Amino acid sequence: MIYSSTPRIEIDLSKVAHNAEKIVRLYGSKGIHIMGVTKGVAGSAEVADILVKSGITTLADTKLKNLTTLKKAGVKAELVLLRTPSLGDAEETVEIADISMNTELTVIEALSQQALQQGTIHRIILMMEMGDLREGIMPEDLEKFIEKVLLLKGVKITGLGANFACFGGVKPSSRKMEELSAAAEKVEAMFSLQLTYITGGNSGNYHWFKETKNTGRINNLRIGESIYLGCETLDREEIPGLYTDAFTLVAEVIESKVKPSLPFGETAQNAAGEYPSFADQGMMKRAILAVGSQDVVVSGLNPRADIEILGSSSDHLIINAKDTDLPVGKEVAFHVNYSALLSLMASAYVSKKYYFSNFIQLPQPG
Ligand SMILES: *Cc1c(COP(=O)(O)O)cnc(C)c1O
Repeated sequence: MIYSSTPRIEIDLSKVAHNAEKIVRLYGSKGIHIMGVTKGVAGSAEVADILVKSGITTLADTKLKNLTTLKKAGVKAELVLLRTPSLGDAEETVEIADISMNTELTVIEALSQQALQQGTIHRIILMMEMGDLREGIMPEDLEKFIEKVLLLKGVKITGLGANFACFGGVKPSSRKMEELSAAAEKVEAMFSLQLTYITGGNSGNYHWFKETKNTGRINNLRIGESIYLGCETLDREEIPGLYTDAFTLVAEVIESKVKPSLPFGETAQNAAGEYPSFADQGMMKRAILAVGSQDVVVSGLNPRADIEILGSSSDHLIINAKDTDLPVGKEVAFHVNYSALLSLMASAYVSKKYYFSNFIQLPQPG
């Protein structure tokens, strides 16, 4: 018997393509374009290629390293840096990204200077703080901020955006979207600007989008999780017609024994620095899988079989096998949430297996 490499994440590109096409069509029905966010898949060129073939022409990532991967792979899309660049990254940002998101004048000055040196104009989207309290220029400071940016010759303001549901859990409500629309209109009129991107949020904007009759000036959303995991992100509800199982973690059993459910001996801290406690369930069919907290955010795993994750250390996942047979060498599959996906795709210890579950004709872009 040949064993393939584990732990591995299996990526069904047919399902990713299906989800991406549906998302593009859904949001497109009310005039909203999608930036495909690749940070959840660590800037995977294979996935990015599928997004582009599914009709997405702009890809966005928080890491320059991931954008560099996409650029080197020759992915045919406009590249956006989603996180405001660090000063040290200004030069590379101008080289790699077509557009970057920004909130700090010092950084924009550095980008402008770099752009002039490189003989180009770097486009920027300004992010406005709308309550979630991650990135953003405070609304009352926006006009003064833009005045100063307009003096810089190496950058061009190409959009205005806001982020929601990431830190403070603040919803992109209709009210917030109307405020963003109004802010965009106001600064466009005030400074004779033409904003190409008015980008209202992320996968958390689904319910707003479904319910709103008028999207106002919002013409763009930045979507990752909905495409990969088929859900919105305010309550993690499934989006009808999308696959939620495009990604699967597969790990292998390396020990399988009947053992007590209670640790025996004098106890102290475990590997995580906790004093763990356990319920006595008598003897238990237990298994160890060769994957651990160094490879994946374990709390984001959900076994597809009727087994239970008891806990983990850096390289071991401890399982209550219940009535499931888990002999050494058996492969065990898990559903992943977004945190688990991020960690698995970024891990050098986890192999990536891309496949097409069925033949589907992808529409050609353009
Ligand atoms: C990660 C990120 C997104 C994408 O969020 P999803 O919930 O995966 O759709 C959008 N915008 C910004 C600024 C981000 O950092």
